[in-house]
Amino acid sequence: MSDVALARSMGAVVSGVSGHLVQVEVDHSRGLPTVGLVGLPDASVIESKHRAKTAIVNSGLAWPKGRLTISLSPAELRKHGAGLDLAIAMGILGATGQIDGELIANTVFLAELGLDGSLRGVPGALPCVIAAAQAGIHSVVVPLGNIAHCRIVPTASAVACSDLNHVVSYLRGESQPLPQGTTTVVDLAELVDLSDVMGQEEARWALEVAAVGRHNLSMIGSPGVGKTLLAQRISGILPPLTENETLQVTAIHAVANTLTSNSPVTRPPFEAPHHSATMAALVGSVHGHRVTPGALTRAHHGVLFLDEAPEFSRNALEALRQPLESGHIALSRSSWTGLLPAKFQLILAANPCPCGNALSDTPKVCGCTSVALRKYTMQISGPLRDRIDINILIPNIRGVSEGESSAVVRERVIAARQLSAQRFADFPWSTNSEVPPAFLRVHFYPEAGGVDLLNSYVGYSGGLRGSHRALRVAWSLADLANHQRPTRDDVALAIHLRNSEMAMAS
Ligand SMILES: [Zn+2]
Repeated sequence: MSDVALARSMGAVVSGVSGHLVQVEVDHSRGLPTVGLVGLPDASVIESKHRAKTAIVNSGLAWPKGRLTISLSPAELRKHGAGLDLAIAMGILGATGQIDGELIANTVFLAELGLDGSLRGVPGALPCVIAAAQAGIHSVVVPLGNIAHCRIVPTASAVACSDLNHVVSYLRGESQPLPQGTTTVVDLAELVDLSDVMGQEEARWALEVAAVGRHNLSMIGSPGVGKTLLAQRISGILPPLTENETLQVTAIHAVANTLTSNSPVTRPPFEAPHHSATMAALVGSVHGHRVTPGALTRAHHGVLFLDEAPEFSRNALEALRQPLESGHIALSRSSWTGLLPAKFQLILAANPCPCGNALSDTPKVCGCTSVALRKYTMQISGPLRDRIDINILIPNIRGVSEGESSAVVRERVIAARQLSAQRFADFPWSTNSEVPPAFLRVHFYPEAGGVDLLNSYVGYSGGLRGSHRALRVAWSLADLANHQRPTRDDVALAIHLRNSEMAMAS
């Protein structure tokens, strides 16, 4: 063993909901026995050197004499948590010749070390494994407690070890990693089916159109008429997530601790926060350096459903505006500032009035004052209402006919989505609801009859923005009907879907 040696290993930390690789460099030289740690470590990382020392000694390995300098890079990235313990310990073993430096240089180590050298699970391992896979590193060592989530990333070959000695012998090819648990597949979307909804043909159809274009949707109807039942079934008719979306969504739910199984999230998530939910529960919270994603981020690439939407606080509804415009939430707290992804399809449901009886066909009568009614409807403010493409009224009529299953509807939605994806192949968006206004009238105009109808709608009641929203919905109708461009009828139906709530309520 030489007196001066340098070794490199790799670890990773989580910031927000994404993982970042950390290069660990350990320099061992003659001198007083000190351990220096540089590169923006926080207190928990500074403690790593103590945990590493105890773990190394208690594992029967040698703690070096002389000076150790441990450098963590990139330098500007804040390092926090105990998850770098193993990477630091492996760097020390490499720098002191106790393991071949080549065996550790291209492996990401993620684990907290117990004082006996055992590997302990770390929160947020999945985003770290995703970061490793995206950097082209396929060798990852984790504790047994993290392996199930890590196996979700198909391109990473994560293995689990029990303790420091096991890691060393595994890297040398002298032992096998721990056996991996099997992954279970639970597809919740299959458990609730659109065929459970009796009647409500128009609402089912509106849900299908909304699914095609990822249109935000508002439903008004009497209590108990089936608004929640309908909304819950939208993720079953949406196309499955792409591979990339699956990784992003699964990482978010791993960090939020809301994964329901050890399998990737392949269906669009459905989040339905209660109207009493706190702002932290909606937009996310920060404790130390750990970010807990809120409902808006957990709905990323999926659906956010607000039942009894006017009951939500003004602040809560206001918090929807930024993600609806930009697809993310900016969180700024003293210990963490950054962006959380939050690109969701919004579904709002509301009673027709505060008491719920305004549309009642029973002897119950509405006792709401006009002031109360106005306050209730104004709660969903102009800017938020502007983002809703489809407004429907759910009638009180109870149907008896069973409709199509989610699987049948989903096939039509997928076929229609493929048409829009082809159309937008050269553009940075993929669904009809995302087309910017400037492109709508220039590239994506309807047939001549539809143009006339849109123009009169602008003047009549829709306004320019309303006509843009109607045209986006018309494209979804055209995609469902396999029309080259929206016909006059497609535009007429889209205008109806934008306003059917008002038309039927009046
Ligand atoms: Zn009422």
